[in-house]
Amino acid sequence: MPKALREGEFAVHYQPKVDSRTGSIAGMEALVRWIHPVMGMVPPDRFIPVAEESGFIVELGEWVLRAACVQSRAWRDAGLPRTPVAVNCSINQLKRGDFPDLLSRVLKETGLPPDCLELEITESVLFENPLSLVAGLSRLRDLGIRLAIDDFGTGYSSLAYLGHLPARVLKIDKIFVKNIVHGANFPILRAIVDLARKLGLTTVLEGVETAEYAAAVAPLGADQLQGFYYGRPVSAENASRVLARGLRLAGKAD
Ligand code: C2E
Ligand code: CA
Ligand code: CA
Repeated sequence: MPKALREGEFAVHYQPKVDSRTGSIAGMEALVRWIHPVMGMVPPDRFIPVAEESGFIVELGEWVLRAACVQSRAWRDAGLPRTPVAVNCSINQLKRGDFPDLLSRVLKETGLPPDCLELEITESVLFENPLSLVAGLSRLRDLGIRLAIDDFGTGYSSLAYLGHLPARVLKIDKIFVKNIVHGANFPILRAIVDLARKLGLTTVLEGVETAEYAAAVAPLGADQLQGFYYGRPVSAENASRVLARGLRLAGKAD
């Protein structure tokens, strides 16, 4: 894989997150892609676990971080609406003592204001690791970078623990959205959104796939929505077009 990175086989795609009140794009999530010369597009679920295992994720994660910051800055320079980027982070990156230094270096190099960068960390990483790691995350918050808890609700989520994390954003996993469309879990989802709001967290619902899903989640009043209905992950070039023209909803991206 390191060779594939050197040979330019990796790309970062972007998926919009939408402000539920205004319908405008609130940010873009950076999602890495491996475009293999023979196998074509390899989904991250196939290669991220391998990269985690070998430690390559640290190098790949740094590359994604830099690419996303450069992109957000380029959108700004092109006069497009201010678009924060959200970058997924692996536990192997977080465990490194120099991770905060890397972040401030990349922000400095790219000239991106820290409030234009969000780091997404999956719930299981936050809940399964010692509090000392979690405490280290407050250094990131001190840099002005927002932390998001990703895939909330998939593991042994502790609602009590939520208030102790230095996170500003709660991304509720797509399984919840799927369930409410099938008539289940609405009260649970409502309770999570309400609690998160009381804790001052920005709430994001993932996996809003169709107009039917969008209608089902609307009464919850989550702050941001993400899913195929608003746009699939697309190349940086196509994401720039989406930003320039605004969203056109019909469950299709480009
Ligand atoms: P994730 O962070 O939960 O990312 C969201 C995944 O849900 C993406 O899959 C996205 O394409 C997919 N998705 C978005 N909207 C919908 C929808 O409406 N319905 C459904 N069914 N799926 C939707 P993707 O791009 O295949 O990424 C899979 C996972 O790989 C990500 O899950 C993330 O955990 C990981 N990943 C991706 N890029 C990176 C990266 O740069 N670094 C690290 N450490 N992990 C990454
Ligand atoms: Ca994510
Ligand atoms: Ca997620």
